[in-house]
Amino acid sequence: MSARIIDGKAIAEKVRGEVKEGVSAFQSTHGRVPGLDVILVGEHAPSVVYTRNKEKAALEVGIRGRLHRMPEATTQAELLAMVAALSADESVDGILIQLPLPKHIDERTVLLAIPPEKDVDGFHPINVGRLSTGQDALVPCTPLGSLRLLDEAGVNLKGANAIVIGRSNIVGKPMAQLLLSRDATVTIAHSRTSNLAGLCATMDVVIAAVGRAEMVKADWIKPGAAVIDVGINRIELADGKSRLVGDVAFAECKEVAGAITPVPGGVGPMTIAILLQNTLMAAKARARVSA
Ligand code: NAD
Repeated sequence: MSARIIDGKAIAEKVRGEVKEGVSAFQSTHGRVPGLDVILVGEHAPSVVYTRNKEKAALEVGIRGRLHRMPEATTQAELLAMVAALSADESVDGILIQLPLPKHIDERTVLLAIPPEKDVDGFHPINVGRLSTGQDALVPCTPLGSLRLLDEAGVNLKGANAIVIGRSNIVGKPMAQLLLSRDATVTIAHSRTSNLAGLCATMDVVIAAVGRAEMVKADWIKPGAAVIDVGINRIELADGKSRLVGDVAFAECKEVAGAITPVPGGVGPMTIAILLQNTLMAAKARARVSA
């Protein structure tokens, strides 16, 4: 039987609608709208597109979105000064520094300079620690969006066996923490995991966050399992064109899985929607503290 396709575009639209309502309620109570400030250093072409999309998405839900473009030659001290200015600005609820940064800037140092309460990407060690100790935290957008997709698909996580393939700080590790917080039994797999295919085939939930085109095959999937494909890979076609595929061989896996996300149109649209949700959450938390 063919799997239910989890429609990330529609669910992201629903999240944006919720945020829009939340922003208007926030404005009625506090007399201002939440503010999201995105910093882009340099001209990395995909980052230019991503940051413009983030600013535009913010404006569409009523958040004050602002993109700060800094030249490639920006020094670390200049970037830190920008972060300090935004940190001190009361109208700013979320600060996002688009990665990757130019090589002469130390990413860790700069990310540490963002106050945890404005860290809408959820990368600050304080937020990482809060998530892993079960406290309220700003959580990285892509794994939080993936969790929402599982919830919207009605997947029962309590007691489920879940595998997260990939152990990055941005996706794999926070995803594992989120699943754990929902009472799943979680396995984290990575490039050194042995018998990954066999292990995967015993799992009720599979999250693929690797960056390898169509690595997860149909015989890796337990019949009826829920499959979330975080991967985004561009593959060249015979006619010289290219197309996007995930880490999961979608056409064959959808014949075995119970529910599955497509690429594109699965996890991808969720990331920006959750960024907006995180910005609203940060604004509300800051308003509570200053009340
Ligand atoms: P990463 O390169 O930081 O991490 C990849 C992980 O995969 C590593 O932990 C590595 O151990 C593991 N890995 C590599 N080869 C493996 C193998 N053969 N078997 C098992 N594990 C293996 O990547 P990332 O930032 O976590 O991103 C993963 C994928 O998700 C990429 O395709 C990326 O483009 C995509 N991504 C999508 C979104 C989105 O919005 N949809 C956001 C972030 C990342």
